[in-house]
Amino acid sequence: MSKPIYDRVALIGLGLIASSMFWAMKRAGLAGEVTGYARSQATRDTAREIGLCDRVCDSAAEAAQGADLVVLCVPVGAMGPVMKEIAPMLKPGATVSDVGSVKRHVIDAVQPHIPDGVHFVPAHPLAGTEHSGPEAGFAELYDNRWCLLVPVEGSDPAAVAALRALWEGMGANVEEMDADHHDLVLSVTSHTPHLIAYTMVGVADDLRRVTDSEVIKYSAAGFRDFTRIAASDPTMWRDVFLTNKDATLEILGRFTEELFALQRAIRTGDGDMLHDYFTRTRAIRRGIIEAGQDTDAPDFGRGHGK
Ligand code: NAP
Repeated sequence: MSKPIYDRVALIGLGLIASSMFWAMKRAGLAGEVTGYARSQATRDTAREIGLCDRVCDSAAEAAQGADLVVLCVPVGAMGPVMKEIAPMLKPGATVSDVGSVKRHVIDAVQPHIPDGVHFVPAHPLAGTEHSGPEAGFAELYDNRWCLLVPVEGSDPAAVAALRALWEGMGANVEEMDADHHDLVLSVTSHTPHLIAYTMVGVADDLRRVTDSEVIKYSAAGFRDFTRIAASDPTMWRDVFLTNKDATLEILGRFTEELFALQRAIRTGDGDMLHDYFTRTRAIRRGIIEAGQDTDAPDFGRGHGK
């Protein structure tokens, strides 16, 4: 057990990410008391039933009152309004952080509401599953995954160091990154791949109407992996695309060019081009496994069933 890094932590929003944070903080004794708030009564009831948070509050302001660290764990589009609501309750010296998948938009929406004397240190854990809600979380989610801290201009070094220690205590490897660079990198590694998965499953769904249930019945590994990604939370992903518009459009443009090049190679029978291309992409997969970011198990390394 570590010594608590914060006496009081408030989690605003109690879904996959917040609940995993709670269990990971408890596992390592990183927080004295953890309060939590979710907007729906149903989620608050579930949280109370499963012991998620030491105290579940009926308003975000109540959960945030007196906290040393407040973490906004709501969809990206809800960050600004939630921050506005809790701002008057924050104690001087407290730190506000978030876990949003897009950083420039969150900074622009949240920072104007940060009161004087309160620190703001945005963050993004690069870990998740296609499951959502308070029961989806588990203590190991962040083990050996990256968490990117995106300090804003003038961020207090001590506040950044404490948040880094918290994420490291929850099992993550921590690095700092600039917000715009973050949004571009994540567009390549996460956002655009999700959009492509949504599209491919949508195409198959259209086709199903033609081929009856064959698409599901003979679902092969490639398609099944797309369906797992395309099962991700619709609200979260709507907000990601609406708030990371420029980077997504930039990467989609490049994707379309590559797709046309492959299409031409197929039409002209350019097997060398296809073989070289697939050899290059195979090396990337090997690199990810060697970096410990996935296993080469055929189930995408999700053997724990989450
Ligand atoms: P989640 O499981 O769907 O939980 C979202 C939580 O936010 C729920 O407690 C929900 O309350 C609350 N909420 C939703 N809309 C709200 C609104 N308009 N105002 C106030 N509260 C609202 O989501 P999650 O996967 O934990 O994601 C939370 C954040 O983490 C998002 O910003 C996402 O971009 C980021 N993130 C997600 C992943 C991932 O893979 N899932 C990975 C890294 C970062 P109710 O339950 O009462 O509706």
